[in-house]
Amino acid sequence: MSSVSKFRPATLLVQGGIERTQFSETSEALFLTSGFVYDSAEQAEATFAGTVEHYQYSRFGNPTISMLERRLALVEGAEACRTTATGMAAVHASMLAHLKTGDRVVASRALFGSCHWIVSTLLPRYGIVSEFVDGADLDQWRTALSTPAQLVLLETPSNPMLELVDIRAVADLAHAAGALVVVDNVFATPLLQKPFELGADVVVYSCTKHIDGQGRVLGGAVLGRQKWVDEVLQPFIRNTGPSMSAFNAWLLLKGLETLALRVDAACRSAETLAGFLADRPEIARVWYPTRPDHPQHELAARQMTGGGTLVAFEVAGTPTLSPKQAAFRLMNAMRVVRVSNNLGDSKSLATHPATTTHYRIGAEERARLGITDGVIRFSVGLEDIEDLKDDLLRGLGELQTLRQAAE
Ligand SMILES: *Cc1c(COP(=O)(O)O)cnc(C)c1O
Repeated sequence: MSSVSKFRPATLLVQGGIERTQFSETSEALFLTSGFVYDSAEQAEATFAGTVEHYQYSRFGNPTISMLERRLALVEGAEACRTTATGMAAVHASMLAHLKTGDRVVASRALFGSCHWIVSTLLPRYGIVSEFVDGADLDQWRTALSTPAQLVLLETPSNPMLELVDIRAVADLAHAAGALVVVDNVFATPLLQKPFELGADVVVYSCTKHIDGQGRVLGGAVLGRQKWVDEVLQPFIRNTGPSMSAFNAWLLLKGLETLALRVDAACRSAETLAGFLADRPEIARVWYPTRPDHPQHELAARQMTGGGTLVAFEVAGTPTLSPKQAAFRLMNAMRVVRVSNNLGDSKSLATHPATTTHYRIGAEERARLGITDGVIRFSVGLEDIEDLKDDLLRGLGELQTLRQAAE
């Protein structure tokens, strides 16, 4: 498979990066080992001197993990990849490996909660200046990046309101300011958006989401240029140890095999359900990147090949229920779609961000991000679309009854 990178994504997801043992197994072998032995003291010496290639210790290299890293790099079109134990470890490593005291970071405000905490709370502790901008507002990026910066972090589409950032425009501004551009591509998955083609320097994933996609394990990945990965990222990972378990890498390899099928099916359902919800009087508003009523749908058409597996919508209040109560009523009425703070699973999941994932950022910041008390984040899974519709109708029917009773 040496010329494997010429294959298309669906093929790479199944075959990319395989390295078979002397037993010629079909499926990727699981090397559940912490360390490795050497034929001789001389071989160990040569390995540490870097003149011989040999696995040393699974904190910084393991054959199963290497297969996953090669497959992810091939699918992304990246020169190199390192995996981590969680998505947050990937975000943390990509930033802390690159930054030092006195550096400046500019980030889009609409970030996954823990990414927001790293930028707003952790980095300043080390004397790194951080600044947030509204990711959709290019003027704010232009102003913030008129001063030199070392790193730009952005997430698009964002969690939970599916706001987009123009990756190419921001990357151009960031590069002129001297910054490394890190894109959290979780919501788009490796299939719907190619940040490297749009100017990104580093792409990060929570493999916990669509890449596993079956709610089993945590994992993260950082992808970038070979030189940056070897010289900046790898020493940080090797010495600080946010490493992935080989068992989780093996599960994620199997997850990748079905990624294209799962993302394609969930996207189709998500788009249909977004339309279904938009037509309902109980729903005040729907956000889905490729819908014509999304304020950035033209940007979505330019930089994404699909809208993704998430839909955000705002439940309207009724004469007797506040928007929050109405949203809770809808969530509690559903039997197939379960209440959870997770996403990107084969099981459909509903989240009320204002009281869970975005509770701690406070009411003022929520208002700034448009996360009202009626907003539900809907992670669309692989169930039959008719059952998902029926499930939503169970909740919507209850709200409809309350509206009619008051008329
Ligand atoms: C889940 C998520 C993360 C964090 O990943 P974990 O695997 O939970 O640590 C980071 N960014 C985004 C956009 C996510 O959805």
